[in-house]
Amino acid sequence: MDKKVEGILKRALEDIPPTREECVYLLGFAEATPESTYTRAAANDIMRKKTGNTGLLFGQIGLELFPCPVDCKFCSFGETHTGFQGKITLDDDTIRQKVREFTKDGDLYCLWLMTMAEYDLDYYINALKIAREVAPPQTLLYTNIGDTDYETFVKLKEAGADGVYHVIRLGEGEYTTLTPERRQETIDNAVKAGLMIQDCLEPIGTEHTPEQMVDHIFKSIEKKVDTAGVMKRTPVPGTIFTDEITNLRLAQISAVNALAMLALEPYPWLPIHEADPIGLTSGGNSICAETGVNPRDTEADTAKSRGLDVTACRKMLWQAGFQYVCRGDGVRVELTPEYIAQCEKTE
Ligand code: SF4
Repeated sequence: MDKKVEGILKRALEDIPPTREECVYLLGFAEATPESTYTRAAANDIMRKKTGNTGLLFGQIGLELFPCPVDCKFCSFGETHTGFQGKITLDDDTIRQKVREFTKDGDLYCLWLMTMAEYDLDYYINALKIAREVAPPQTLLYTNIGDTDYETFVKLKEAGADGVYHVIRLGEGEYTTLTPERRQETIDNAVKAGLMIQDCLEPIGTEHTPEQMVDHIFKSIEKKVDTAGVMKRTPVPGTIFTDEITNLRLAQISAVNALAMLALEPYPWLPIHEADPIGLTSGGNSICAETGVNPRDTEADTAKSRGLDVTACRKMLWQAGFQYVCRGDGVRVELTPEYIAQCEKTE
C-alpha cells in the first residue's frame, strides 16, 4: 500500500480534505489496486458518518424529445446522429401519472423535469405546476433544461421550481456546440433567481484525465453546490463513442469526489449515475429513478429500458446498507424491508 495514499486517507478520516494535487494522485491509481480499494472504503465510511447512513432517492421525468440542434456527441438526441425522428411531448395526464408514480410514497428527495436545450416556456411552466400540484410538498422540484436567462428562472421559481440541475460538462465546447461560459452564465442566473444548484462531474469517458476531473470537482467546491454527483458516459449506439469506463472506476472517482467534498459545509449529497452497489458503497449516496425520454437511451420511454423505478432504487439503497432515506424537507425515513414492501404494495 502506497504510503502517501495512507497519509491522505488517514487525514480524511480525521475530517481533513485532500488537496487538489492529492486528489489527482489518488485518481492516478488503476481501479483494481489496493490504493483504490482503500480510497473507496474510506470514502464510504466518511460519507456514512457525515449523513447518518442516509441516502437519497431522485426521480427524473423526460418531458420532450426531438432531434436537438445543440448536437452533443454523447447524447442520443443530437440531430446529426439521433435515431429518433419527429417530436414526442408528454401530455398533462401522462405527466400527472408519472409524477404520482414517483412521489406517492412521499420519500422522493427531488424530482427533475427534463426537457431539451430549446423548450417552450408555457409548456414547461405548465408541467412544473402539474408536478407541484401532484407531488407532496416535501419533494423538491428541479429543472433540467437548456441555457436560460434570469427573468425566466424567476418565472420557473414562481411556478414551483426549487432548484436547477445545470452542469459544465466534460468536453463542453468540444463535444457540444455550447460554451462553458454560456453554461456558467445560466448557473449564475439560477443562483441570482434564488434557486439551488445541483452539479455533477459528467459525462466521464475513458479519455478524461485525473486533472480534468479534479478541476471540475474543485469548481463544484468553489460554487458551494448542494449536490455533487458523478456520472459516466454511456456509449449510446449511433453516437461516436463506443468506449466506457468501468463501474469500478466510476466508484473510485465517486470516492475521491466524496473525500474532496469534506471541504464543504454542509456536506453535499453525492449522486452516482447510473448507480450500482459498488458506487453506493464507495462514497455515492443518491440514486435516480427515470421515466420518459433519456439522453442515454434509444428507447422513447426509458422506464421500459435503462431507467430504474423508485422501488428498484429503494431496494438498491437498502442492499447497499443505507439505513435511511432523506426527504426534500430533511426528514429521514427508516429504510427497512417492511417499509419497502409497504411502498411496493400501494403501487
Ligand atoms: S445533451 Fe441536451 S443539449 Fe445536448 S444534444 Fe442532448 S438534449 Fe441537446
